[in-house]
Amino acid sequence: MTAPRIGISARVTGELGRQHTGVHIDYAHSVSAAGGVPLVLPPVIGPSAAAEALAACHGLLLTGGEDLLPEHYGLTGTEHLRDTDGDRDAFEMALFRDARSSRVPVLAICRGFQLVNVVLGGTLWQDLPAQRPSDLDHDKGSEWHERTHHVRMLPGSLALAAMGRDLVLTNSFHHQAIRDLAQGLHATALADDGVIEAAEGNDDRHWLVGVQWHPESFWRESEAPERGLFKALVDAAVEWRSGRALQLTENAIG
Ligand code: MN
Repeated sequence: MTAPRIGISARVTGELGRQHTGVHIDYAHSVSAAGGVPLVLPPVIGPSAAAEALAACHGLLLTGGEDLLPEHYGLTGTEHLRDTDGDRDAFEMALFRDARSSRVPVLAICRGFQLVNVVLGGTLWQDLPAQRPSDLDHDKGSEWHERTHHVRMLPGSLALAAMGRDLVLTNSFHHQAIRDLAQGLHATALADDGVIEAAEGNDDRHWLVGVQWHPESFWRESEAPERGLFKALVDAAVEWRSGRALQLTENAIG
């Protein structure tokens, strides 16, 4: 069995004229450690070629980064909005729509999780401290691998199955969060203040898990429950690939 290819959505950094595109190396290590082949997908590909890029992948990892443009969920930006990248939004939204229609498994992290919710019709808090204050600080500016707040996985969820326990102290680096959860999703993990920390797709035929924390930061820890999320994505990608092979064979015979 060859390793499945996992597309990882990349960001653009640097000043005009000196720009770079890529992913935080922890995303690539996490996919690799789980037995997948990481393929970096830069926004330069553009929405019109997103399907072509996805066709090279058996699974998709939507990564963290900039705030989504609030226009995507029907609002204008408040003073609390941070950096945005409209080109990246457009490319990743197209990637996700294509993954949805072809049922390519998706693990969506932080911004990626928020993007999935918005594409499916949900909305976001543009800034938790300003709009939904609580005692829990979701963006303490800690080290990436530092565990700062608990998330509770709900029974029967893919998140619980993947992580292997219902209560995990994990990391947190987000000032935005899910406000109205999209109809196509159900919440599968919560923080102590009720913030939605994970959600999954309602369609059993499509493996779709979104998390608000950063599981990729723990790839060096062999016992970290977060590594199970990447293993689950890679397993789902292998299963999707066999399903597609079967379908191609049936089409050829039929
Ligand atoms: Mn959090």
